[in-house]
Amino acid sequence: MRLRNSFCSIMAALALVVPILLIAPDFQAQSRTAAVQRPPLKVFVSVDMEGIWGVVHGNQCSSESPEYQIARKWMAQDTNAVVQGLFEAGAIEVVVNDSHGSMRNIIASELDPRAVLISGSPKPLSMMEGIDSSFAAVVFVGYHARAGSAQAILDHTISGAAIYSIKINGIEMPELGINAAIAGYFNVPVIMLTGDTETCRQAQELLGKSLVTVPVKEAVNRLAAKNYPRDRVLADLREGARKALLSLKEMKPYKLESPFEFEVNFHNSQQTEPGVLIPGVRRTSPRTLTFTTQDYLDGFKLMRALIALAGVS
Ligand SMILES: [Zn+2]
Repeated sequence: MRLRNSFCSIMAALALVVPILLIAPDFQAQSRTAAVQRPPLKVFVSVDMEGIWGVVHGNQCSSESPEYQIARKWMAQDTNAVVQGLFEAGAIEVVVNDSHGSMRNIIASELDPRAVLISGSPKPLSMMEGIDSSFAAVVFVGYHARAGSAQAILDHTISGAAIYSIKINGIEMPELGINAAIAGYFNVPVIMLTGDTETCRQAQELLGKSLVTVPVKEAVNRLAAKNYPRDRVLADLREGARKALLSLKEMKPYKLESPFEFEVNFHNSQQTEPGVLIPGVRRTSPRTLTFTTQDYLDGFKLMRALIALAGVS
């Protein structure tokens, strides 16, 4: 009886355990597959220079000036603090696109060695070169306010020499808006921006309050700023990036509605002369070129071509 009872108990136990043992490898395989199939958390970081901590003058952003050599180090430091925060929040890959002037500002060996660096120009998507739909999030570092902003360091839009303002679908755009719409084209949300306080304000106004902003300085005027304490700024940048990526689910891509109506206002009438030669481009005032596209990237590229043609005369 006891033996029989034990035998029955063993059989009963086996009846429970065997199916589990048979199923368990399946579960393991499925969870392995799920892990493999989950998209890697890739983050795209576009880095401009005017909104970097310490920068208050064009000389600091121009390679001809001796002041530039230290400012490009600050640029790498601000970027590295952000990159650190992104990796702490689970980023698998971080691609940094140098987005200012020659786009060769960040010294490659000074960037966090875990990050990919896109360096040099020209690039078809300029400040957003490298973005595609494989990325989970975008971060803007060192960005500046749109042309015509008050209390904003080195405010301009794409070209200080050529552009008075740019409107897309009636919205006067800072670079952060133009570039956020490129990210939106690929369904990627912008999760964080760093720059002066006015740039942070413009970013939240356009992209929404869930955007994490980290102000690194407060402009007194276009060429003077109160720079916040360096240690605090670097800690804020790191923590801001970490929190932004952990809050990714709350972030929405910035998408503009098709058709896309571009209005490019130049500083003078000579700068609109080359643009009128292009079919589809209309001169609606001596200083204004307008055109409409169905595809946002087509419009972005045509806009950049018009600015390149305008020169700085
Ligand atoms: Zn710049």
